[in-house]
Amino acid sequence: MTEMIDAALVWFRRDLRCDDHAALYYALKSARKVWCAFVLDTDILDALPRQDRRVTFILRSLQELHDGLTQATGGLGGLMVRHGSAVTEIPKLAAQLGVQAVFANHDDEPAALTRDAAVRGRLSDQGMALYTTKDHVIFERNEVLTGQGTPYGVFTPYKNAWLKKIDSFYLKGYPVEHYTAALAPVAADLAGWQVGKPVVPTEKDIGFEPCDDLKISPGMSGARALLADFLPRLDQYHETRDFPSVKGPSYLSTHLRFGTISIRELARLAHERAQNRSEGAQIWLSELIWRDFYHQILFHHPHVVGHSYKREYDRIKWAHGAHANAHFKAWCEGLTGYPLVDAAMRQLNQTGYMHNRLRMVTASFLTKDLGIDWRKGEAYFAEKLLDYDLAANNGGWQWAASTGCDAQPWFRIFNPISQSKKFDPTGKFIRRYVPELADLPDAAIHAPWLGGFQVKGYPRPIVDHDEARADTLKRFDVVKKA
Ligand code: FAD
Repeated sequence: MTEMIDAALVWFRRDLRCDDHAALYYALKSARKVWCAFVLDTDILDALPRQDRRVTFILRSLQELHDGLTQATGGLGGLMVRHGSAVTEIPKLAAQLGVQAVFANHDDEPAALTRDAAVRGRLSDQGMALYTTKDHVIFERNEVLTGQGTPYGVFTPYKNAWLKKIDSFYLKGYPVEHYTAALAPVAADLAGWQVGKPVVPTEKDIGFEPCDDLKISPGMSGARALLADFLPRLDQYHETRDFPSVKGPSYLSTHLRFGTISIRELARLAHERAQNRSEGAQIWLSELIWRDFYHQILFHHPHVVGHSYKREYDRIKWAHGAHANAHFKAWCEGLTGYPLVDAAMRQLNQTGYMHNRLRMVTASFLTKDLGIDWRKGEAYFAEKLLDYDLAANNGGWQWAASTGCDAQPWFRIFNPISQSKKFDPTGKFIRRYVPELADLPDAAIHAPWLGGFQVKGYPRPIVDHDEARADTLKRFDVVKKA
C-alpha cells in the first residue's frame, strides 16, 4: 500500500503482543488512525470443553495486550474485545469505526483461511479491504521451494534451503514502537466487551469455568520470563532436551502458538548463537525450522487434516471395537502399565504440556503398540495441549504413525521400556507423575512386572510390546505391498 488511508483496524488472532507485530506495523504506517481488536470467536469456542486452559491463557494475555496498547497511547487507546462469530463481528466493528481497511497476520490453517475469505467478502461488500501478511513464521507458503518450484516434503533439504535463504532481512523485527502515535482513542461505547462492561470478559462471562492452575505465565511478560530463563541454558540444549526430568527445552511453545513472543526475535537469537558455533543453538534453531516446515506442509497439503500425508497409508486398518476403545481409554488416563507412557499422559492431563520426547513415545505407543488410529491420538492432544497447533500436532502424529512426510519408517517402533531406561534412567520423571511407583528401585521402575513387582493400584501392561510389534508389522503390510 502506498497511499495513506484515514483509518484502519488491526485484527489480532494468534499474535497477542504489541511489539514486533507485522500487521500492527503495516496498519500504523498506512493509516492516520488505528484501532485494535480481538474476537473471542464462538465458531471456535463453541466446540471446546467448558473448562479449557487455553481460554484462560487467552483472556489473561488479552488483558496484558490491552494494557500494553493503553500504555503505548498514554492511556487513550487499547484493545477492543468482542464475543461472537468473527465473520460477523469484524465487519460490524469495522463499520462502526468507519475504517477503510482491516489488517491481520496470516493464519494458514484451512478453517482460518475459510474464515478470512468470508470476512474479506463481507468487508468488500462494505467497501473495505482486508490486508493480511506473514508474521507467525520466518518463511511461509512458497518462500522456500525446491529447485523445481515444488514444496519440500523432506525436512533436511528444507532446512538446508531455509538456512541458505535466511539473512538479517527476514530476522529483523517490525519497529512498532516508532509509530504508536497513530493508535487511536477508543470511544466509551465501544471499549467494553459489551457496552458498559470491562474490556476483557471473564471466563464465566463467555460460558467457561476459570482455570486457576494454569502452570504457565500468560502474556508477553510470561514469554519474556521463560525466554530469560532459557537463554542461559540454550548452549546446552542439545544435551538436555531429550530428558523429561531435566529443564532442557524452552517451554515457549504456548507463547509461540499464541504469538505472545515474536518468532523473529527467537530465531534471531538462535541464529546469532548458532553462527557462533553454539551446538545447543544450532539444534534449537532446527526445532524452530521444523515449526516452519510443518506450517508449509499444512498450507500446501491441507488434506493432512483427516488424511495421511502419504495417501496410500489411509489403507491401514487400525484396531477398533470395544477392546481398542478400552485400550484408548487406558492410554488417555495414563493406565497402560508402561510407566513412562503413563507418566507422560498424566503430565499432559495435569498440566496441558508434554515433553517432546514423550509426545513421540506416547504417539508411537498408541499407534504401534495399541494399533489405534493416529487421528484419535491427534484429537486427544488437540483437546488437552495448551500449545496445540494444528500444523505441528498433525505433523508430529503423522511422523510417529509413519503416515506423514519425512516420517519415522513404519518398521521402526519405539520400545517403551528402552525409551524409559534411556531418557528417564533413574525414573525421576516417572516418580513425579506416577506416585504409585515412587518406591520402586531404579532398575525396576521402567517395567515393574519384569522385576516381579505388582504395585497396588497400578495396572499390569495392557499389551505385550513384542506381540504388539509383530501385529504392527503385519498391519503395515498393506503399505509395503502398495
Ligand atoms: P523447544 O524444544 O524449546 O523447541 C522450541 C520451539 O520449536 C517449540 O516451542 C516449538 O514451537 C518448535 N518445535 C519444537 N519441536 C517441534 C516439532 N517437532 N515440530 C514443530 N515445531 C517444533 N508442538 C506444538 O507447538 N504444538 C503441538 O500441538 C504439538 N504437537 C505435537 C505432537 C506430537 C505427537 C509430537 C511428536 C510433537 C508435537 N509438537 C507440537 C512438537 C514439540 O513436541 C513441541 O513443540 C515441544 O515439545 C514444545 O516444547 P518447548 O517449547 O519446550 O520446545
